[in-house]
Amino acid sequence: MKLILLGPPGAGKGTIANEINKKINIPVISTGDILRNSIKNNTKLGKEAQEYVTSGKLVPDDLIMSIVEERIKDNDCQNGFMFDGFPRTIQQAIELDSLMRRLNTKIDQVFYFEASDSVIVERLSDRRVCAKCGAIYNLNYNSPKIENVCDKCGGQLFQRDDDKQETILNRIKVFNKETLPLVEYYEEKNNLTKINADLDLKIRFEDVWNRLIKLGLVGK
Ligand code: AMP
Repeated sequence: MKLILLGPPGAGKGTIANEINKKINIPVISTGDILRNSIKNNTKLGKEAQEYVTSGKLVPDDLIMSIVEERIKDNDCQNGFMFDGFPRTIQQAIELDSLMRRLNTKIDQVFYFEASDSVIVERLSDRRVCAKCGAIYNLNYNSPKIENVCDKCGGQLFQRDDDKQETILNRIKVFNKETLPLVEYYEEKNNLTKINADLDLKIRFEDVWNRLIKLGLVGK
C-alpha cells in the first residue's frame, strides 16, 4: 500500500502516519525528518538544505526528488510506504507520477488533512519532538508524563526551530501557495480523501482507517 499524507504543517500527518505504522508495518517517509537528520549530521545534503528548512522555505525540487528516489529503493519500502510531507509542489507530484510509472507501481490513495489556521498555529507552538526516537507530543493534549522527557524512550524533548511563531506563519503561507494546488491535482485523478484535521486524533485516525478498509487497502 502506497499513501500520500497531504496537509498543512500541524495537521497531524506525522502522528497519523505513526498510528498507521503501529497497525501495519509499512515505513513512514518524512522528507522533513530526513532533512533534519542530515542537518544534524552536517552532511552535504544537510548543508544544502539548512537555510531553507530553518526559515520555513521549500527545499528545491531536485534535491527532494533524489532523496525520495533513493529512499523508496530500500528493502523496507518494497511492500509499501507512506509519504509524510511529500510531494509539496506540483512539480514534485508530476515527477513522483513518472517515478511510479518507471517502477511499474502507483500511489493508492492521498489523504488531505484539512485544518484551520488557528488550530495549526496552536498545535505547532505547543508541539515538542523527541530528539532520540522522533515521538511527537503536544503540551496541551498529549503532554509527556515528565516534563521534557519522552515517555517512550526517555529521550530529551525539543521544540523544532521552525515551530517558532514567525516561521509558522511563513510555513502556512508557503503551504497555501505551493502545496494546496495538489488537492485539485489529486482530486482530478480521483484518489483523494479529505479528512477534517481539526478534530481530535482518535476521530481523525478512525476516519482514515475506515476509508482504508472501504478501499480494500487494509483488512477489517
Ligand atoms: P516537515 O517536517 O514536513 O514540516 O518539513 C520541514 C521542512 O523541510 C519544510 O518546511 C521544508 O523546508 C523542508 N521540506 C520537507 N519536505 C519537503 C518537500 N517535499 N519539498 C520541499 N521542502 C521540504
